[in-house]
Amino acid sequence: ERAREILESGARRGSNRLGVEAMELLDAYGIPTPQGDVVSSPVEAEAIAEDIGDDVVMKIVSPDILHKSDIGGVEVGVPVEEVRDTYEDLVVRARNYQEDATILGVQVQEMVDLDNGVETILGMNRDPQFGPLLLFGLGGIFVEVLEDNTVSVAPVSENEAKGMLDDIDSAPLLRGARGRDPVDEATLVETIQRLSQLVTDFPAIVELDINPLVATPDGVQAVDLRLTLD
Ligand code: ADP
Ligand code: MG
Repeated sequence: ERAREILESGARRGSNRLGVEAMELLDAYGIPTPQGDVVSSPVEAEAIAEDIGDDVVMKIVSPDILHKSDIGGVEVGVPVEEVRDTYEDLVVRARNYQEDATILGVQVQEMVDLDNGVETILGMNRDPQFGPLLLFGLGGIFVEVLEDNTVSVAPVSENEAKGMLDDIDSAPLLRGARGRDPVDEATLVETIQRLSQLVTDFPAIVELDINPLVATPDGVQAVDLRLTLD
């Protein structure tokens, strides 16, 4: 099926690291991702942005660049008329960082409303003893600073997935603290279970991170993906 093809195309490239170019893997498991695509020219990037019909986010796509924003590889809120230049800028920054970096292209992605959302992290680490450990917690820029997360062995039941939400200290943030609207908890729980299914189906995935998984009152959006194959 489609998910297998995506993982195999990564392996064929001789890289065991996949990034946002593998986002379709999430779509295949019903985990929502923002509209967008990875393209390999400024003109194609512009066409995607015109399709989206609003300001976009652009990201360098390279197996050699793990933290894209650290090297200036993420541009948020790019107007359509700046998409072509931004494409070139992103490639130059990647080359400055590592001259011989493999560059797969640039992702052009729909903007996600972070003001009404909470950036969470949903990930998996395969432990030799315990098997796939799912991790859920506060994501985005807070992930290292606050270290608010919880771990559960996959596969998880609906109740176990719910329990993961309850477990984190920031649970009130998801449930509408300080006058915010509560996030769509049912979809969040479903998403944890869908990732659980994905990593159960593919033992070759040894590590996976969706960071951020943006949770909003209307659902969730997996904005970034990174995974490692064995
Ligand atoms: P990396 O983690 O490799 O630096 P990300 O794709 O996670 O790259 O982007 C970094 C940050 O940029 C995210 O944590 C988020 O705050 C912001 N961002 C990325 N994509 C979007 C998007 N589609 N809409 C809004 N903000 C985004
Ligand atoms: Mg990220």
